[in-house]
Amino acid sequence: MSDLVLVLNCGSSSIKYQLLHAESAQVLASGMVEKIGEAHGGCIVHDDGERELVHEGSIPDHRAGLRQAFEMFRETGIDLTTAGVGAVGHRVVHGGEVFWQPTLIDDDVLATIRDLSVLAPLHNPANVIGIESTRELLPGIPEVAVFDTGFFHSLPEAARTYAIDAKVAAAHSVRKYGFHGTSHQYVSRKAAEFLGRGTDELNQIVFHLGNGASASAIRAGVAIDTTMGMTPLEGLVMGTRPGDLDPGIIPHLMRVAGLDLSQVEQLLNRNSGIKGLSGVNDFRELGELIDQGDTQAKLAYDVYIHRLRRYLGAYLVDLGNVDTIIFTAGVGENSAPVRADALAGLDSWGIEVDPERNKTRAPGILRISPDSAPVQVLVVPTNEELAIARAAHELVSNPH
Ligand code: ADP
Repeated sequence: MSDLVLVLNCGSSSIKYQLLHAESAQVLASGMVEKIGEAHGGCIVHDDGERELVHEGSIPDHRAGLRQAFEMFRETGIDLTTAGVGAVGHRVVHGGEVFWQPTLIDDDVLATIRDLSVLAPLHNPANVIGIESTRELLPGIPEVAVFDTGFFHSLPEAARTYAIDAKVAAAHSVRKYGFHGTSHQYVSRKAAEFLGRGTDELNQIVFHLGNGASASAIRAGVAIDTTMGMTPLEGLVMGTRPGDLDPGIIPHLMRVAGLDLSQVEQLLNRNSGIKGLSGVNDFRELGELIDQGDTQAKLAYDVYIHRLRRYLGAYLVDLGNVDTIIFTAGVGENSAPVRADALAGLDSWGIEVDPERNKTRAPGILRISPDSAPVQVLVVPTNEELAIARAAHELVSNPH
């Protein structure tokens, strides 16, 4: 079975894709389709490793976006229908209580992913369209769904239960599911490999800090808590989402500010977090504003760090003792100040960051704690595409 896998991550108005070899991790091409369904700004950037091709023009829907991306593959010498693609791996956001393992997609699985849209109305419908489109464009090639919630299937009941009327919760599948699971699992395994230990020997805390952000507590390779909840809104402060919020704020705003459901969703998904507080959601821009003395930007940063530290404390207690703390994703891999401030003043817990090591920029895994510190603090680049490709290839090669 060919280990060449096309990985697709379909968002509500975007598609990220990568064609790679699951075994060697060699990437043949990658790209991003943006602003699908919008009147202006539609764009595809396709990178074949040597050059970048750009297509500009409106992209009415996901199918049209994929068709155009396939055309760009062809322009760079790869016809996906004949290139020997062994599997298509789809990142699917919500597996609900039904799916947690990578799953071969047939009509029933697709219908269930569609039904789960009720739990992830902004995400699962896009995943369904992505699956339907590749079925049409690459008929006969097996498709595998890898669920963002999957790794958190193991959360103990006390960690995954919300304290609301149990009957209401049960009737509407209200519980913590967690997201970014592929990344949390991937970096925690990589960290164990780097340390020459088994995941079963380690207690780990992972901070996945991208535009979306989440943390997890992992005991012996099994997730026992995570910050995101029934939806990706809970937990850490994110680029445009608030993370934890007093639930009473929502009815208050509906009552006194007259917000309706779609305005509430817009507020929580697009106009909160770092952006809501400072006006920008990119951490590099936030840093520039702070350097210019912008007090709102500084406040946004402080709120972000305060929330990180709150969960660090919670997970230290959850785990009892911790062996590794891992930073990953855009902010976690690149922002030395975030890493230093998140862990400042915790020497008595065995947690230290060496300032020189923290400043180092190098590809691969970086240890930023001093050799003498009991807790290994690591920067581990995430690679969700590779994790999805490997899961898809493994399943297609050995279907269970
Ligand atoms: P996602 O996959 O959730 O879109 P990423 O993992 O790509 O997010 O992370 C995006 C975030 O990473 C942005 O806020 C961006 O500013 C931040 N980021 C990227 N590079 C740097 C950098 N050099 N310093 C600080 N933040 C960075």
